[in-house]
Order: sequence, then C-alpha cells, then structure tokens
Amino acid sequence: MIEGSSRKEEDLIAVALEARKKAYVPYSHFPVGAALLAESGQVYTGCNVENASYGLSICAERVALFKAVAAGERQFEAIAVVTETMATPCGSCRQVLAEFGESELQIIVADPEGQMEIYTVGELLPASFTAQHLPPST
Ligand SMILES: [Zn+2]
Repeated sequence: MIEGSSRKEEDLIAVALEARKKAYVPYSHFPVGAALLAESGQVYTGCNVENASYGLSICAERVALFKAVAAGERQFEAIAVVTETMATPCGSCRQVLAEFGESELQIIVADPEGQMEIYTVGELLPASFTAQHLPPST
C-alpha cells in the first residue's frame, strides 16, 4: 500500500463517487463507483449493475474497464473505487485489471468521506495468470 495522496487520486475519487450514484443495486444495496484513468488522460466511469439473475451482475470496475477498451484504450494508470466500506476489487476484477494494467496499475480504494488506501494490481493479485502462461500460438 502506498501512503499519501495527490490531486490525481482525489480527482479520480470524486469522479468515482459521482459514478456511484448511478449504481443499479436493487438486491445488494451496495453501490460501487469506479473511475479509470487511461494513459491518454481520459477517465472512464463505471458503476455496478445487478440483475434478478444474480450471476449476471457486473462490478463497477469491469464496467469502467470495458467501456475504456471499447473506446480504444489499452494502457491505464489508475482506478479509483468508492464503496461504503473501502472494499478492494473482487478477484474477477483484479484479474481483468491485470490483463491491461500489468502489475503497476494503481488501485485507489476510498469511501464517500474521502478516506483512501492505494494498492497496485501486483499487490492485490500476486503471481497472476497472464498471457505469458498461455502456450505460443501457432
Ligand atoms: Zn469485481
């Protein structure tokens, strides 16, 4: 975990907090907002979207990342995730973030009051499964 904060982190948290208001969470009542900073400087937002078929629900982090990839982004610097309890991303989101962020992507977890902790993907998902583990394509 990295100590301290900067304007970049605070700005991303503010955007994620706003995105959290859009969360569709009629079942868990646990809204999550995310703001992903691409190397281009563009920020992509996400919120969790639940479904009556619970397994089809998707996390805020993956909504933000998939929106960014669909917009043509491939390199990312940081993602802020705001929850009531400063929850870290789930295992699925860690894996998906590792695909694009490698181990250095910053994960900023925060609560609505602005408390934050900063991790890297490598800290939250050490020894991750990556494309390097796949056999060479023929
Ligand atoms: Zn997740």
